[in-house]
Amino acid sequence: MSLLVRFDPWHSSLCTCPPKLTFNPYTGCDHRCVYCYASSYVPRFFECRPKKDLLLRLRREAIKLKGELISISNSSDPYPTVEAEAGLTRRCLQILAECNCQIQIITKSNIVLRDMDLLKRASSMVALTITTDDAETAKALEPYAPPPEERLKTAERLAAEGIPVVIRIDPIIPYVNENPEFLVRAAAEIGVRHITASTYKVKMDNWQRLSLAMPKIAEKLKPLYFEKGEKMARYLYLPKGLRIRLLENLAKLAKKYGLKFATCREGLKGLNTATCDGSWLIKGRS
Ligand code: SF4
Repeated sequence: MSLLVRFDPWHSSLCTCPPKLTFNPYTGCDHRCVYCYASSYVPRFFECRPKKDLLLRLRREAIKLKGELISISNSSDPYPTVEAEAGLTRRCLQILAECNCQIQIITKSNIVLRDMDLLKRASSMVALTITTDDAETAKALEPYAPPPEERLKTAERLAAEGIPVVIRIDPIIPYVNENPEFLVRAAAEIGVRHITASTYKVKMDNWQRLSLAMPKIAEKLKPLYFEKGEKMARYLYLPKGLRIRLLENLAKLAKKYGLKFATCREGLKGLNTATCDGSWLIKGRS
């Protein structure tokens, strides 16, 4: 089985990403986000373990590539706690850089700063997920991920080194983080140029975790998803009118602070002002 696969999340037209390949250096993730989607299809998801024969397989496959965009990673974080010691993602980046690939990192972790030397030399970008600037809310939602302040500092350092940075405000959850103006303004001030946002989609396992972590919020969300919501690609979405209101608000905030904006898996392409995943920021692509 190939390690590198075509990025095709949920096998649906809801994804507006440009053609790219993806792989996960690790199976599972120890950030334990309550809203995580990958935990619904990967067994023992919160036990993070390296992919079998990772470097061998990547070397074998990467040598055949011709400068493709490689997104790392979409069903786990490429910088779980163990990566600080293990350095597997770093070795993957070395292989991909040697093969002249374009690299897109998606992470919540400041460990990415360790690899700035490689990212600077390659054609690359980093998407940092920051759901909220409120540390307490972040602790409830993403208990083992670095706090938002640290993630913002990470974004600032990457941008200062000339590595393009996108902030993903993902997921947007009503009553929790629906009006993140402070975060958008802070992003603009530190040199971020693009925001991607997406609303929370219910799967039964993430709903159970969210209900335990935020019982009062879950009570308010219940009718929005289970009575008025719509089912798309096996996920429960908020009612369309509400999603449009939430994401239009984000689009306006991005415009106000001079940032490009895109939605992710919403079927609302009309709100996008740039390629949804921010890959347009990679040198030579725009
Ligand atoms: S960082 Fe991503 S993959 Fe890891 S638990 Fe959180 S949502 Fe899931």
